[in-house]
Amino acid sequence: MNPSPSNSRPARAPIVIAHRGASGYLPEHTFAAKAYAHALGADYLEQDCVLTRDDVPVVFHDLVLEEVTDVARVFPERRRADGHWYLIDLDLAELRQLSVHDRVNPANGESTYPERFGEVLPLRIRSLAEELSLVRGLNRSTRRHAGVYTEVKSPAWHRTQGKDLAPRVLETLADFGYRTADDDVWLQCFDDAELLRIRDELGCRLRLVQLIGENEWQESATDYDALRTAAGLARVATYAAGIGPWIPQIVQWPAAGAEPAYSTLVRDAHAVGLAVHPYTFRSDQLPAHAPDAAAVHRALFEVAGADGLFTDFPDVTLAALGRRG
Ligand code: CA
Repeated sequence: MNPSPSNSRPARAPIVIAHRGASGYLPEHTFAAKAYAHALGADYLEQDCVLTRDDVPVVFHDLVLEEVTDVARVFPERRRADGHWYLIDLDLAELRQLSVHDRVNPANGESTYPERFGEVLPLRIRSLAEELSLVRGLNRSTRRHAGVYTEVKSPAWHRTQGKDLAPRVLETLADFGYRTADDDVWLQCFDDAELLRIRDELGCRLRLVQLIGENEWQESATDYDALRTAAGLARVATYAAGIGPWIPQIVQWPAAGAEPAYSTLVRDAHAVGLAVHPYTFRSDQLPAHAPDAAAVHRALFEVAGADGLFTDFPDVTLAALGRRG
């Protein structure tokens, strides 16, 4: 086999992060979506990670399976009393029997993004190790380097199920040579207590990203309002290298035809040395009242000064940055 391509990161900014792969074109987190994102030229491929019943980190966004797989048909008996099929209740071998499709509302089968791929194929859930192997192989065969942008999903919830996700994710990343701040990986989490644990107790030296949601989402026990203050950002800067805010926390269009209104979040984050990678650009679901894709990219990159963007459509974001014809 050829020598492993280097994990060292090239200098580049702003960065284009393929959100769940090129998920605007192919079902999220499938190999197809990841390979296509790599081919489109994304700088980073994102991995959301959840643990299986047999403790394998797999690349999957939700804690439950029914919105993007055929679990209700394959394992009807594995539904919990609350009506959901939890990924953590199945072993990897069982999860491999499921097919991944575009996101739907399981109550009525309606597509969340009706203009997307729309086909049903045997696209599989993959382990984090398999995906890192895919990226390594593509980096080798294409001679174009893409980094990885890995998320520890809902660590507190995993603990309520008797599982500890972060150590498994870190072990797998280390197995593929992602060990230091010089390696081309960002490790993201919404839970600030978990990021502190990852840094201090687990001794992780990777670049960390504090994701920032809204308190009303109840994504974690983290107080996102406090994190977004100057004092909060200064505290984040003691353990993380960047933040991942929601786009409306940076810019909003108050009404159709109105000029965009900006927060000071990017400036405040830069003042304490934090990179800013907002989420998520979707060509088929623009921020409220935004006139078009070009306006969104211009607002984030040229006016606000963001350092990257999570995007379902990596080619659109690359084109907006002048990196693709
Ligand atoms: Ca994510």
